[in-house]
Amino acid sequence: MRRLVVVGGALAGHRSAVHARRLDPDLDITVLAAEDELPYQRPPLSKGYLLGTVSSQRVRLRGAGEGYRLLAANPAIGLDLAQSSVLTSDGIQSFDLLIIATGAQPHRLEGFPPDQDVVYLRTVGDANLLKEALARIHHLTIVGGGFIGAEVAVSARRLGVEVTIVEQSAHLLSRAVGPGVSRLIEENLQRLGVELALESTTKLEAVNNRRLVRDGSREWLTDLVVVGVGVHPSTEWLGGALPLREDGGVAVNEFGFVDGFSQIAAAGDVASWHHPLYGRPLRFEHFEVAANQALHAAEALVSDKHIAYTDIPFGWSDQGELLVQILGVPSPGLAEEEESVDGGNMFLYRRDDRIEGAILVNAPEELTALRDRILSSLSS
Ligand SMILES: Cc1cc2nc3c(=O)[nH]c(=O)nc-3n(C[C@H](O)[C@H](O)[C@H](O)COP(=O)(O)OP(=O)(O)OC[C@H]3O[C@@H](n4cnc5c(N)ncnc54)[C@H](O)[C@@H]3O)c2cc1C
Repeated sequence: MRRLVVVGGALAGHRSAVHARRLDPDLDITVLAAEDELPYQRPPLSKGYLLGTVSSQRVRLRGAGEGYRLLAANPAIGLDLAQSSVLTSDGIQSFDLLIIATGAQPHRLEGFPPDQDVVYLRTVGDANLLKEALARIHHLTIVGGGFIGAEVAVSARRLGVEVTIVEQSAHLLSRAVGPGVSRLIEENLQRLGVELALESTTKLEAVNNRRLVRDGSREWLTDLVVVGVGVHPSTEWLGGALPLREDGGVAVNEFGFVDGFSQIAAAGDVASWHHPLYGRPLRFEHFEVAANQALHAAEALVSDKHIAYTDIPFGWSDQGELLVQILGVPSPGLAEEEESVDGGNMFLYRRDDRIEGAILVNAPEELTALRDRILSSLSS
């Protein structure tokens, strides 16, 4: 019986294990998970879960833990290619086939060690801490004006908490979107009463039971700090055994195989996947990308069908009154063009004549046509 080991027990890990089971009912499948949880989804953790509109039951992925052996609280600590085995603190797991699905983890900010009052939001445990705090605090400081920061700010305002976002750039999300989209996100947050401290870097000090934040020109007391300054792929456990790319992700070809290996695949936030339509490797931190790459990775390893991942990558950010939908690669370095659409906004990002990416703000009905438009632009 062939043995598949999946490292990472969240979205990409669970989905690849479930798909592998569908493809081969006789496969022996073990999922190694660092967290002591059944596989769950992260998007609600900055939104409905904090507001209490999405329960912990609903956060769980459908069929979580079914059809495979889940070894929870059992992180992989090494990969022995010569022995085809994964090392864990409990022993070794030998494999014939291996899927890497260890996702990403938050960058730590110097001077902001995680504790009761400094939260890095990635896991359901982090979200529980934040949710409990939001029920009792008056003021929240968010360091880092990215998607997670903006979403947490909206949730906190809805719960009546005062919020300041500190961002070192001149605009929120300037590394992810163009200036037109940044402006709409900033306006929405300001309408909700969020204070924006832009072009600002901060220091943190403890003062009695509160924290003092200094940003160069001024200082304020806050009850809780959420740090959201980006993530990096969780690859340290590999100890250099597999090839990594410049973006930090595991190097993967268009089918999902790790470069140079026919028995190892990778998917999700940890994977730097060669995208044939873009002609270059890309790494995303989008739910749908991780969910779909997981199917390709399982297919590549378990069946004889190798199907290139050619989806137009899609992610979204729900910020209360604002629904931001991201298609393709809307690099902020590219020129941003706005096209008028009913009721919302559409922004296109071109490289030469090709539309590489687009962002819709409150225009979900445009999504399908826009996806087709990007696909035909990239294919021509
Ligand atoms: C708060 C939040 C909100 C989000 N909202 C959105 C959204 O609105 N829209 C959107 O498109 N995307 C959103 N995302 C991004 C989306 O959730 C990710 O793209 C998705 O979770 C990636 O799935 P993954 O399985 O690749 O990685 P992860 O979800 O990171 O899962 C990887 C798992 O592997 C485990 N692991 C790590 N190292 C090891 C090891 N050595 N051994 C065993 N296990 C290990 C980790 O503990 C983790 O459970 C959000 C993310 C967060 C954190």
